[in-house]
Amino acid sequence: AKEEGRNTLRFFDPVMQAAVNQRLQLQAELHKALRQGELALFYQPQVDAQGRIVGAEALLRWHHPEKGLVAPGLFIPLAEETGQILALGRWVLETALRQQGQWRQDPVLAALNLSINVSARQFRQAEFVAELRELLLASGADPRRIKLELTESLLLQDVEQVIAIMQALRSLGLGLSLDDFGTGYSSLGYLKRLPLDQVKIDQGFVRGMLQDEKDAAIAHSIIALAHRLGLGVVAEGVETEAHHRFLLAQGCRDFQGYLFGRPEPLADFEQRAKATA
Ligand code: C2E
Ligand code: CA
Ligand code: CA
Ligand code: CA
Repeated sequence: AKEEGRNTLRFFDPVMQAAVNQRLQLQAELHKALRQGELALFYQPQVDAQGRIVGAEALLRWHHPEKGLVAPGLFIPLAEETGQILALGRWVLETALRQQGQWRQDPVLAALNLSINVSARQFRQAEFVAELRELLLASGADPRRIKLELTESLLLQDVEQVIAIMQALRSLGLGLSLDDFGTGYSSLGYLKRLPLDQVKIDQGFVRGMLQDEKDAAIAHSIIALAHRLGLGVVAEGVETEAHHRFLLAQGCRDFQGYLFGRPEPLADFEQRAKATA
């Protein structure tokens, strides 16, 4: 109205409004998803130099009632912003640890490592270590078979504090992996200071390394550096035999990617792991 226009500045941008509505709707739907059991973990194999399955990464999926299977790239960034990642992340930890607890009853599955993604915001919670201690007890999971995948975004906060939390997690027996290495905020100095077990070479470098000398140099250097520092190194996004051969030649011994298997529902993964054991 004209009277209003004088003192108040009003924006109405239908495109922006639609985007806001969409986010609000997604947020509400995600809340419902947790309560109504629409979330699931898929499992993607990790293999050794002989191609044997040595573990899996647990990856979140949402069985949306209308949209079908939704990949985490479409809802995790929003959940990070809204704080819903805390509830999601707890559900992931609980579900994955319970799963490993069950795998312990099986001679083949008991030997598998399970990698679980942890967001920086989740890691930063005051109760994170205590929560993990409880979940480990309740699930009967073997902490030596669990790896928490952390990202370099952790390093935006006080590094001393991050190191203290990492040490507390390690004293629970858990393994720690630095995900998407080389894409974030870490300097090489952190690799020396952080109590890590493993780094994961980001799939961007793997994708580029056969055409781009710089990607190849980075992939090579990450592998060499990890070895020199006594860290394990997993290459992600290994899609072709050519990727695999190149990485083997650089000394990489652990792999994850579509060449060896896509993320798949639990039963399919378990069957695959048993069949190839
Ligand atoms: P990420 O942790 O880097 O996970 C690897 C992603 O690469 C997965 O995508 C996986 O499906 C995909 N991938 C694996 N092999 C290949 C390959 O050979 N080629 C290609 N093109 N892609 C491959 P996804 O499942 O869509 O997950 C995307 C991201 O969402 C993850 O990246 C992670 O950052 C996040 N995410 C997934 N699950 C969780 C979770 O439970 N908690 C948290 N905080 N983040 C999660
Ligand atoms: Ca990961
Ligand atoms: Ca990654
Ligand atoms: Ca990633």
